[in-house]
Order: sequence, then C-alpha cells, then structure tokens
Amino acid sequence: MTVTVRFAPSPTGRIHIGNARTALFNWLFALKNKGRFIQRFDDTDVERSKQEYADGILYDIHWLGIFPDATEYQSRRFDLYADAMERLKAAGVLYPCYETPEELDLRRKVRRTRGLPPVYGREALKLTADERAELESEGRKPHWRFLLPNFTADPFETERTEITWNDLIRGEETVDLASLSDPVLVRADGTYLYTLPSVVDDIDMGVSHIIRGDDHVTNTGVQIALFKALGAEPPVFGHHNLLTTTSGEGLSKRTGALSIESLRSEGIEPMAVASLAVLVGTSENVSAMASMDELAEKFEPASTSKSASKFDPDELVVLNKALLHAMPFEAVRDRLAALGISDERAEAFWLAVRGNLEKVSDAAIWWRILRDGPDELPALPIDDRIFLRDAFDLLPEEPWNGSVWRDWTGKVKEATGRKGKALFMPLRLALTGREQGPELADLLPLLGREGTLARRP
Ligand code: GLU
Repeated sequence: MTVTVRFAPSPTGRIHIGNARTALFNWLFALKNKGRFIQRFDDTDVERSKQEYADGILYDIHWLGIFPDATEYQSRRFDLYADAMERLKAAGVLYPCYETPEELDLRRKVRRTRGLPPVYGREALKLTADERAELESEGRKPHWRFLLPNFTADPFETERTEITWNDLIRGEETVDLASLSDPVLVRADGTYLYTLPSVVDDIDMGVSHIIRGDDHVTNTGVQIALFKALGAEPPVFGHHNLLTTTSGEGLSKRTGALSIESLRSEGIEPMAVASLAVLVGTSENVSAMASMDELAEKFEPASTSKSASKFDPDELVVLNKALLHAMPFEAVRDRLAALGISDERAEAFWLAVRGNLEKVSDAAIWWRILRDGPDELPALPIDDRIFLRDAFDLLPEEPWNGSVWRDWTGKVKEATGRKGKALFMPLRLALTGREQGPELADLLPLLGREGTLARRP
C-alpha cells in the first residue's frame, strides 16, 4: 500500500503556524514512508473560499519546503458528492429534516430540562410522506442528516456504540456514537458541510492516513461510520495537539496571528518555522533542523503531547540565529545578491558576519558598515584616539594574508603596551562603530588596507 496523506485547509485565509504543523506532520510522514502528499482545498463553501487564499497557501507550503504530488479543489468535484449523497439516501442512512435552528434550539432546551443529552432526537425520521410534502409546500427545504449506526433495530432506541481506532499519535481512542447527534451532511440550500466531501475524497484519492488536529477527534467517530456506510475501509487516523499563543488563545486564520506570511516577511527562515512547528509540544528537544530530511529523522508522531502546546514566537528568533550561524554561502547567495552583496567578497563576508545575524537581511547593515564606515562614531576619550592613531600607523603593508589581524595587533601591543579589551575595543569601535560584531580578524581583510585606514580617527 502506498502511504497517501493530504493537507486539507479551507482557503478562507492564510495559514498560520498551527496549520503548518498539520501540513508538516503529513509531509514528514509521507517523506518517512516514501508516500504521496495531496494538497486538497476544502472549498465547498464557495462564498468564503477564495482562489487568492489557495494560491497563498500553496506559496506558503512551498516556502516551508512542502511539494505536493497533487493539488485538488473540492469545488471541482461536486458530482462525486451528489453521487455519494444518492447512495446514502438509497441505503436509508441519509434522511431529510425540516427543523429551523430555533426549533432545534428549543428541543435541545427541553431535552436538557428532562435530563436527556442534548442530541438530535431524530424527530424528522417520524415524518410521513404526506407531512414532508406539506412542509415542502410551505416552502421548507430539507437539510440532510446521516443516520448514525448507534442502534440495533429501532433508531429511537440508541445504545452505546463504541467506535475505536488506534490513533497514530494518541494511541487507542474511542467515540461513543450514541453520544452524538446525527450530523447534517447537506444544508437546506444544497451546500455540503465538510464531513461528506472529506470522506468521499479520502476514499476516492486513496488516502491511507489522515493526520490532523485533535479538534477532529469526535468527527473521526462519525467519519469512520461514514466510510463504512460508503462501503470503504477507514484509513489510519492521527490527531496532533493544537498550538496556542503564549497566553493560551487558539490561533485563527482570520486574525492573521502568526501567519506563515507574516513570519516570512519578518525574515524568519522556513526551517526555523518548520522545526518549531513540528517539535514544539513533543518529547523531542526543540532545536533548529537545517533540512526537511533532518527534521524527518526527529519526527516521531507518537511522541506528541496530548494537551495543547504554547507557541512562543521568540523561540523562532533563537532558532533562526542558530540556522544562520551554520548556513553555507550557497544557501543565501541569491538573497545576499538581492541585498546588493554580490562582489567577490560576498562569500568571505557572509562567513564573517553570519554568526552575528538574527535575520539574513541584517547582513545589509554590516555590508553598509564595511562599505561606508560606521553609522555613527562613538565619542572616544582622547587617550583612545591617540592610541588609535598610533595603531593605524602600524597597519601592515599589503599584500595581506590570513594572519594580518594577529600580526597588526601584535605590533600594536608591543608598541603601546595595551592589551585585552583596552587594545581591542577602541579598534572595534573605530572600525565598526559597535561594541559587538563579527570577528575583526575576518572583517579586516574585507576592508583592505585602504578601507581600514579610512577609519583612522
Ligand atoms: N478542512 C478541514 C479543516 O481544515 C479538514 C480537516 C481534515 O483534515 O479532515 O479542518
């Protein structure tokens, strides 16, 4: 069996880090099992779904390093859902209901006061053909419910019906179908809720593993019953915990909080996002993985915690730094060129500054300092200024080799008697204007003799 997974967002907004967790769990699972990954857009809600969001989501997942084997849109597959609907009707497990939301609400209240669970009482099943015709003649259109298989002979005598599956992430899970209302599959206006198209597609696309957030655990009980009603073997399910903000709020596509788009524009590297999105809330240490293959090595679905995990965006910056510190020049060549860093010094420059960057774009700051001199010269005490003039006068002639910094500072130390911070800090300030930064031994050859002397106070 080929492992086949899918990532199935509704294109009603851009994806956030929590959605990325779902996408990545699926992608890594496919990667580990040499499987297929289907990008499926659950866009049956044609009002709220937008092609621009679907395009944006594709852009975001590509940026993260996910490359689907196929891309599907539910809005192009309505015939299949209509066909499944007819089959369910013919099997007597999809029945028309006419209650308005207000009527349902009232019934729920009545059930509660009687100490009954607030589930749908299947009243519509009792309607005769005449009663249905009359309701329709009043202009009522039916919505359609799936008759859950939670009874032996009489649908009004429900009994505990355990649907059990071995969850890839959570271990054994059970849902009692008698605790649920028959789900509405098709609305009165003929539009589909998510459940039926999802199961139809999972069957039609040969999805072998459904990996998604644990907000779907109860749905899984219903969906397993629906797979069976449609004559299919249910796939394997895995439900991962959800991510929340540091204050414990859920993430929402609508608010744009922690969207992949916003993280990208803040200069966070895709592998920093992917590493945190996958490893947070698992028993693995959160650290920056340089590639998807490396992350796949660490990915172990069953090590995921069962409770929600807080996601701290500050951790992204820490991971980002770690990635940049080890990032080879080839991986950033184009982005540096886009920042105007493309001459023959680019590689040596990158290797010199990468350890001091939070984001790739910060490289431009150091490039400017090298090219134009410090942004602002700190006011140095007079004895430091005298020291610096003496020091610059000792700068070796070119050609320079790799030990120029050591040679120069050795001479300066000997001539001035200064050492340690008293020697290096004034030099660092004169050369870069900053108290911290890349190794001066690496920067000096990039400045060259002329560039260095231009910084003599
Ligand atoms: N469109 C559904 C969602 O975004 C898909 C859930 C699933 O993976 O089955 O919640």
